[in-house]
Amino acid sequence: MPRFEQRVLLGSLLCALPGVMVLVLMALFGTPGTLQIWGLVVLVVIGTALLARWQFRRIMFPLYTLAGLLEALREGDYSLRGVQGGALGDVVYDINALADRLQKERLEFEESSHLLGKTLAALDSAVFVFDDASRLRLLNPAGQRLLDAARSQLFGRSAEELGLATLLQGPSSVLLTHAFPGQQGRFDVRHAALRSNGRGGTLLVINDVGRVLREEERQAWQRLLRVLGHEVNNSLAPIQSMAGTLASLMARDALPADWREDFRGGLDVIAHRAAALTRFLSSYSKLARLPPPQRRDVELAGLIEKTARLEQRLPVRIESGEDLHVHADTDQLEQALINLLRNAVEAMLPGAGTVTIRWTRDGEHAVIDVEDEGVGLPPSDNLFVPFFTTKPGGSGIGLALVRQIAEAHDGGVMLVARETGIGARARLWLPLASEAH
Ligand code: ADP
Repeated sequence: MPRFEQRVLLGSLLCALPGVMVLVLMALFGTPGTLQIWGLVVLVVIGTALLARWQFRRIMFPLYTLAGLLEALREGDYSLRGVQGGALGDVVYDINALADRLQKERLEFEESSHLLGKTLAALDSAVFVFDDASRLRLLNPAGQRLLDAARSQLFGRSAEELGLATLLQGPSSVLLTHAFPGQQGRFDVRHAALRSNGRGGTLLVINDVGRVLREEERQAWQRLLRVLGHEVNNSLAPIQSMAGTLASLMARDALPADWREDFRGGLDVIAHRAAALTRFLSSYSKLARLPPPQRRDVELAGLIEKTARLEQRLPVRIESGEDLHVHADTDQLEQALINLLRNAVEAMLPGAGTVTIRWTRDGEHAVIDVEDEGVGLPPSDNLFVPFFTTKPGGSGIGLALVRQIAEAHDGGVMLVARETGIGARARLWLPLASEAH
C-alpha cells in the first residue's frame, strides 16, 4: 500500500485509540462510577481531538504543498519543485516532471517565437495576419513599409480600411500590378486560412516580384551587351585595321609588286569577319524572334535520319526506336536537333568518337536522347542561359534556342553527364501526335 494511504489508515486507527482503550479498561475492571465515567469521557474527547489534529496536519501538509505546486504551475511559474521522497512520493515526482516539461516547452516556444520574429523581420515579403473579424493582428517590417504607416496605426484596423480586402477576396495565389501606399509595381499575392486558439484567421503574403524581374532583365541585358560588344569588336577591329592597311598601301606612290595579293588577302579578311558578324546576328535574331510553332504530325524517325545526315564531321549512330509521331513544327524541331547534334560533335572535337541518337516513348511524350563521348559538361548552371558559351567561337545561343523550341511545344530539354562518366546526354521531350495517344 502506498505510503500516504498507510499514513491515513494508521492515523485514523490511532484516533480511535483513546475510546477503544477506555472500553478495554471497562471490560477488564468493570463499569466505574458516574463521576469517573465523565472524567473518562473528557479524557477520551481530549485525546481523540489531539490525535485528530495531529492526523489532520500529517494529511493536509503534503496536500497543501501539492496545491501550492499546482497553483504555481497554473500561474505559469515552472521553477518551483516539491521535495521528493515525502509522504506523497510519486505524485510530487510526477508534478516535478510536469514542471520540467512545461519549463522546457516554454523555453522551446520562446526560442521558436524569437526565431519566427527574427525570420519575419528579415523577410523581404510583406506578411499580414488577420483575425476572424478581418482585423490586423500581426505584420512584419516589410508589411509596414508596404503600407507606409506606423505600426500603431495599422494594428487592429480592418483589411478594408488598410486597402487589402480585395486581395483577400481574390484567388489564393495571383500575380498582379498594384499600388500600395508605400510601393507600386508587380506583386505575387498569396493568402491562406489560419486557425489559432480555435478561431479562424487569414495569412496574407505579398512579394515584390518586379524587383526580381528587373534584376534578371538587367543581367540579361548586361550579358547581351557583353556578347554583342565582344562579337562586334571581334569583327570590326580586324576590318578597321585591314582597311587602314589597305588605305596606306593605296597612298604609296609606287605600289609593291604583290599589291594584288595583299588587297585580295585584306578583302578576304573583311568579307570573312563581316560574314561571321552576319551569322552571329542572324542566330541572335532567331532566338529573339522565334515564331509560334506551326505544328503538324511529324514522323520522328524520318526527321532524325534527315538531320543526322547533315552532320558530317563525326559519325552519328541512329538507334531506331518504335514508330513515333510528334505534334511539332518540322523546321523548329530540325533546328533543335541540329543544335544538340552540333554540341555533341563539338564536345568531341578535335578528336574522335560517336554520337548516338535514340528515341523512346514515355507516356504521352516522345523522348529523344543525344549522347556523346566528349569532354563532359562544364561545371556551370548557366548552360541554357543565352550567350553562355565555353567555346572560343561559340555564340551561346544553341541550347537557349533548343529550350525555347521545346517549351513552345509544351516539351522540355535537359543536359546531364552520362552514367558511364564519359560525355554528356541531351534529352529532348515533346508531346506525341494525338493519334498515337
Ligand atoms: P555554343 O555551342 O555556341 O557554346 P550552346 O548554347 O549550344 O552554345 O552551348 C552552351 C555551352 O554548353 C557550350 O559552350 C558548352 O560548354 C556546353 N555544352 C553544350 N552541349 C554540350 C555537350 N554535349 N557536352 C559538353 N558541353 C556541352
